[in-house]
Amino acid sequence: MKEFPFHTFLNLVMFDRSITALEETIERKEAQLEQVQQQLQAHELLQEQLKEAEHVAQKTVDLQELDSKTLDIRIAKIKYNLDNVANPKEYASLSKELAKAQLEQQELETSLLDAWHTLESSKRDLQRSHSTHREQQAEITAQIAALQQEIDACDQQMAQLLAQRAEKQVGIPEEWLQKYEMMRNRITDPVVPIADKNCSGCAYVLSEQDLMRLSNRALLQCKHCFRFLYDPKLLNAMDVS
Ligand SMILES: [Zn+2]
Repeated sequence: MKEFPFHTFLNLVMFDRSITALEETIERKEAQLEQVQQQLQAHELLQEQLKEAEHVAQKTVDLQELDSKTLDIRIAKIKYNLDNVANPKEYASLSKELAKAQLEQQELETSLLDAWHTLESSKRDLQRSHSTHREQQAEITAQIAALQQEIDACDQQMAQLLAQRAEKQVGIPEEWLQKYEMMRNRITDPVVPIADKNCSGCAYVLSEQDLMRLSNRALLQCKHCFRFLYDPKLLNAMDVS
């Protein structure tokens, strides 16, 4: 196992930790943004639904008023015919027709009253919602803009970090970089300190010989979990700029 610069490697690891932390921040902000956008959509949907309800209620009132007018004309006609009947049979038939139409008119009046109530309450709901809607919409839109700005700033920071990363790899053997990348794709902590003579990732007990090498500024791979190991005592003396 070829040894390589301790400082350089740990610098890269810490640099990558800041990349991961920034990635997590971006993910969190994007989730927030999505949530706020959904809030705005829900808000707009509610407004649409209230408008639609008012529209339907108005249409129902209009139709029933039209029906009522048509029925009034029909009743007036029946009454006119009743005044000019030729025989009792025709009179009886028209009387029956009139009673039926008048019953229909009563039912229609009740129904029209209900339709009016529905229209009034839907107008009230819409008005109430409309007054708070603009205010909340402005608030949510401002939140979206602020979050978007924060995400843009994070993205810029990320681009800068990624541009610097190649520099951080200089001096680390390709073979180790590959091993590290592989581990990094699999687990969140590919490089861990030893803790009480054990790998702090999997608790594997290290040999005295490995502990010696670690204290001598070497980096080893754990024989059990393959994480990279280092001696944390050496970190204190390390310049991690
Ligand atoms: Zn291990």
